[in-house]
Amino acid sequence: MEKATVFNIQRFSIYDGPGIRTSVFLKGCNLRCLWCHNPESISPQRQLGFYPEKCIGCGNCFRACPEGAHIAAPDGHTIDRTKCVSCGKCANDCFAEALTMLGEETTSEEVVRAVLTDRGYYERSGGGVTFTGGECMLKPDFIRECAALLSAEGISVAVDTAGNVPFESFEKVLPYADLFLYDVKAADPDLHRRLTGVGNERILENLKRLASLGKRLIVRYPFIPPYNDGEAEAIASLLAPLPVELVEIMPYHHLGEGKYRPLGMENRAAEARVPSDDALEAAVTAFAHRGIPARRT
Ligand code: SF4
Ligand code: SF4
Repeated sequence: MEKATVFNIQRFSIYDGPGIRTSVFLKGCNLRCLWCHNPESISPQRQLGFYPEKCIGCGNCFRACPEGAHIAAPDGHTIDRTKCVSCGKCANDCFAEALTMLGEETTSEEVVRAVLTDRGYYERSGGGVTFTGGECMLKPDFIRECAALLSAEGISVAVDTAGNVPFESFEKVLPYADLFLYDVKAADPDLHRRLTGVGNERILENLKRLASLGKRLIVRYPFIPPYNDGEAEAIASLLAPLPVELVEIMPYHHLGEGKYRPLGMENRAAEARVPSDDALEAAVTAFAHRGIPARRT
């Protein structure tokens, strides 16, 4: 049975595809978007989160850690992350919940059992289950196994992906996925590389191949001034020949910023801004002019 490191199973989601859905978040991503709002999804490993504002100074974590990773510094309690092996022992002994482990190795059967509890909501709303991350397509065998079990139960499966994987990975899940939520972050390859750490050649090629197979496609355009808000026209002309059902323009928000410090990570999107209504409407219009249905989320 396939396993993956899952960091969240979010019930009653209305943002990850049609109807009421359960979103299954996998850890591990091969892009490094400057504005990432799920930094806990980047590493494929379990990670220790530390929320010092909850710490009551009981010292349990110092005694529990076999690696000596907890450090009492003059300016407060810190963690030497080069020593941490993510064993979770300190989090187990932290009754103040200042320490928590992010991510749990989970089997496909466990995921399916968890999401089936809400099947009535999926049926009544036209919803289903969405696999996301991180980049869930880095675990195609896991997705395939989950999706096959869900399809056998008559439950719709969507895959939320940035598409930077070999097309063979898509071929594994194609028989069981009804819908792809496909990120396009920039049309210009050099800009894409500066913003995400990788070029977009394979991403766009995979998008075209999925479209040619008649798969339902919703493209998601994260709209992050000042990084890629100038890409609407170019993305629209790139998508114009493709049978894209909808473009969702997803404005930057600040909700991810507080997630970096507990993980000991640096937020690199210091310049990111919430876009204006006018800028979002102009982006919607750029797609509409090419006959592509679009909406801001
Ligand atoms: S166990 Fe939790 S509350 Fe106690 S010192 Fe460690 S982080 Fe603080
Ligand atoms: S997760 Fe394990 S290794 Fe890491 S700080 Fe806690 S006890 Fe130490």
